Amino acid sequence: HVKERGRSDFRFYQKKMNIGLLSRMKLDHAMRQALEKQEFRLHYQPQVHLKTGQIFGAEALIRWHDEELGEISPAQFIPIAEESGAIVPIGHWVMREAISQAAQWQRAGHRICMAFNVSALQFQQANFVSSVAQTLKEYEVAPEYIELELTESVLIRDADETLRKLEALSQLGVRLSIDDFGTGYSSLSYLKRFPIHKLKIDRSFVDDLPEDDSDVAIVTAIVHLAHALQKQVIAEGVETEQQRCLLEHLLCDEYQGFLCSPAVSASEFERLFLSDQGLICQLRVSS
Ligand code: C2E
Ligand code: MG
Ligand code: MG
Ligand code: MG
Repeated sequence: HVKERGRSDFRFYQKKMNIGLLSRMKLDHAMRQALEKQEFRLHYQPQVHLKTGQIFGAEALIRWHDEELGEISPAQFIPIAEESGAIVPIGHWVMREAISQAAQWQRAGHRICMAFNVSALQFQQANFVSSVAQTLKEYEVAPEYIELELTESVLIRDADETLRKLEALSQLGVRLSIDDFGTGYSSLSYLKRFPIHKLKIDRSFVDDLPEDDSDVAIVTAIVHLAHALQKQVIAEGVETEQQRCLLEHLLCDEYQGFLCSPAVSASEFERLFLSDQGLICQLRVSS
């Protein structure tokens, strides 16, 4: 047993090493091939209303299983895809897949909001807004259920062009959120200029709740800031009931995190969503 375990640990270690040693060029090539070979999948992490405890939406997160390298985390390959430019076709695939899944859920009568990540380079493409418009039209999806997660790095450059694009997206009816809020370089002034609907409090501010006083202060301030500007606010990376409870107390609107569920396959998400709805019905009936 020990021997076998040792061997698989070694193999695991080897796989990890392989990614580290692979040149960026090779990894870029592997990513573009993975796209062709359809090796990418999306998983969906539930987003939950703090007040009702009900699942109302999903964040689509990319997953990559390579035959030789094994499971590769987006935290590893997305930064490299951003550097090489491979994020543009990958991000395009993510958008189409997420919107197609959202359309499927809408046709089945489920009201599920779908959020997906948009990288800065993808956003900067001249045809980005028209590709969003075209995809919405193609899948005949209600745009108010679609949310684009942007990082602060999107908002710092070329302010006029950025403003035009954000307004055009907003005109399409989709919602816009700022991911990892509070960790980027941007100033707060963009919050008053840009049509942003939601702030996503970065996990790093949530991790040490409720003990860390500075994090309590920061999260409190972000919730107030969001609400004062008529925006919604969601906390990321909620893992414990104590964190959830404090966030509810601070009047944060929503959360996502392992406390509810990690990102799961579409069918598993459906199961979670439906059983959640069932639970709500039961509560109503029994009360
Ligand atoms: P993100 O957009 O901030 O996504 C949240 C990350 O936190 C996800 O990691 C998620 O699995 C993880 N997470 C969620 N809840 C918890 C929790 O309670 N505890 C902990 N420890 N972690 C939690 P993941 O899937 O590994 O993705 C990492 C990052 O990679 C994402 O951060 C995002 O920046 C990027 N990414 C993932 N998918 C895509 C994509 O399709 N396109 C782009 N451009 N970036 C993506
Ligand atoms: Mg995100
Ligand atoms: Mg985030
Ligand atoms: Mg992130």
